[in-house]
Amino acid sequence: MSKKLTSRAEDYSKWYNELVVKADLAENSAVRGCMVIKPYGYAIWEKMQAELDKMFKETGHQNAYFPLFVPKSLFEAEEKNAEGFAKECAIVTHYRLQNDPDRPGKLRVDPEAKLEEELIVRPTSEAIIWNTFRGWVQSYRDLPLLINQWANVVRWEMRTRLFLRTAEFLWQEGHTAHETKAEALTEAETMNNVYATFAEKFMAIPVIQGLKTESERFAGADETYCIEALMQDGKALQAGTSHFLGQNFAKAFDVKFANKEGKQDYVWATSWGVSTRLMGALIMTHSDDLGLVLPPSLAPNQVVIVPIYKTEEDLNAITEVANTIMGDLRSKNMTVKFDNRTTHRPGAKFAQHELQGVPLRIAIGARDLANGTVEIARRDTLTKQVVALSDLTEIIEDLLKEMQDGLFKKALDFRDSHITEVNSFEEFKNILENKTGFISAHWDGTIETEDKIKEITKATIRCIPLEFKEEDGVCVYSGKPSKGRVLFAKAY
Ligand code: AMP
Repeated sequence: MSKKLTSRAEDYSKWYNELVVKADLAENSAVRGCMVIKPYGYAIWEKMQAELDKMFKETGHQNAYFPLFVPKSLFEAEEKNAEGFAKECAIVTHYRLQNDPDRPGKLRVDPEAKLEEELIVRPTSEAIIWNTFRGWVQSYRDLPLLINQWANVVRWEMRTRLFLRTAEFLWQEGHTAHETKAEALTEAETMNNVYATFAEKFMAIPVIQGLKTESERFAGADETYCIEALMQDGKALQAGTSHFLGQNFAKAFDVKFANKEGKQDYVWATSWGVSTRLMGALIMTHSDDLGLVLPPSLAPNQVVIVPIYKTEEDLNAITEVANTIMGDLRSKNMTVKFDNRTTHRPGAKFAQHELQGVPLRIAIGARDLANGTVEIARRDTLTKQVVALSDLTEIIEDLLKEMQDGLFKKALDFRDSHITEVNSFEEFKNILENKTGFISAHWDGTIETEDKIKEITKATIRCIPLEFKEEDGVCVYSGKPSKGRVLFAKAY
């Protein structure tokens, strides 16, 4: 298999698919639309999980687990939610197979084993969770209820792409119940903020926080907050969502509580989620034509040490130095691996670590041993430097920090230089043909205009930015009055 990737300029989409497979992140499976996440890809996802989990716990949430299946009667209880997901559901109708009399040695569905009530494989868990919450909430003393679940969900997507859109995906879903509307709204905003902080600090991905328009809102939500990122091809990606659900689910599942005045009231709800799509965001924000580029915070190995030797004696001496380096780096909480495989030449190792985005590579040869130096290569800038062993730990620590900040800065510059204010539909269409990115434009606030613009240009309203500035203007499409600019883009 050739290691070289198709370049981004040649075919961005092909570059992405090749990178995911060649860097050993994930591959397609025997199940349509479902992926296998390979150990290296899973290690990055685990790092994301660990950090997010910590942030959820720091904001007062606890993890729990609910069933994969939702009885159809529960699924349909909140009508808008059910309607929104109905077209992409997997449904269990039977619970047993039997020998097929017409095909010896093969099995068929046992027609006798039909479920009395079909089970929906959860596309999201509000229904099963709110049905459970009814038993957990009696009085205001039981609130707020702050629950998160790490799980898989299934949405029968027709057009799938590794990580970005799969039929089964891994995610976390937060589900919370509150006494008041204000408290639930604050929770939805807080969690959107948590996502934004995580994206920017750990993934080094700048995001814009905003509200979805009615047509892009989560089915069953009164308001959907989101974080939107910009990929290198100028397309936007919804990287996370946080929903204010009003009392919709409490009413559908009869979740009431006795308030401080002793009166019965429905509780207020939120739900929020990020998925393995974040892996796609990470790849498409930072990587280059040589492969993956990882921010140090999420790299399974921040540093890899490659020995360059001819004799066994040299290898032994290098191993000793490598062990000391590893001890020093680990004592400062950095992750490092000694790649002493005898089955691969240094050149092949270099190429693999480059493809897999290891932030720093240290090469140690016999000459380095004599000089008390090593060579460090940076994955982000592809530059090399020779440094004294005595300064190594400090230099590596500084470099990793510099790389984390540098990747964010680069992505931010790119994002900021790809937000264009336009004042006419001609300009709007021009941008989409040339530079792409986010388009900041006046909109009249109607679904009809939103739909028309989408139909003509394929661009959708990504969000009404939280930093929305009141500004009188006219809609780029209809010419009707507008109160401010919203962000459009073509999106994944
Ligand atoms: P939602 O429940 O629709 O608000 O989605 C929650 C999160 O999952 C959002 O960050 C979505 O971008 C992401 N997501 C939605 N559908 C998929 C999919 N098919 N594959 C991967 N991630 C998804």
